[in-house]
Amino acid sequence: MDVTAARQRLEEICSELDRSITVLNGSGGQHPIIGDFPQDPADAGANLSENERSQAVLDVARRQRSAVLAALHRIDLGTYGTCLECGTILPEGRLEAKPEAARCVACQGKFDRLRR
Ligand SMILES: [Zn+2]
Repeated sequence: MDVTAARQRLEEICSELDRSITVLNGSGGQHPIIGDFPQDPADAGANLSENERSQAVLDVARRQRSAVLAALHRIDLGTYGTCLECGTILPEGRLEAKPEAARCVACQGKFDRLRR
C-alpha cells in the first residue's frame, strides 16, 4: 500500500466528512443535504423522522471521521495497513475499499459482534 496515497485519500475523506458534519449540524434536521436521500415534497409524513435520520447520518459520519483520524495516526506511527488485533497485513483491496480499516475482516467481524 502506498502510504502517501493512503494519507491523501484519508485527508480527502476527512474533509468531506467535516463538510457533511457541518451541514448536518447546521440543518437541525430541517434540510438534510445528503444526496443519498431523495426528497419527495408530497411525502410529508416522512418529515417526522427527518431529524432522527440526520442524527443517525451524523453519528455514522462522526464515527467514520474518528476512524479516519485514527488511520492517519497509524500512518504516523508506521502501523498503517496492519490489523490492530492480530497484526496481519491488510490486503490492498480492503484498504482501497475502506482506507480507514483498522482490522482484518475476521477481527472486524469479531469486534462488531462484541460491540453490539
Ligand atoms: Zn486481524
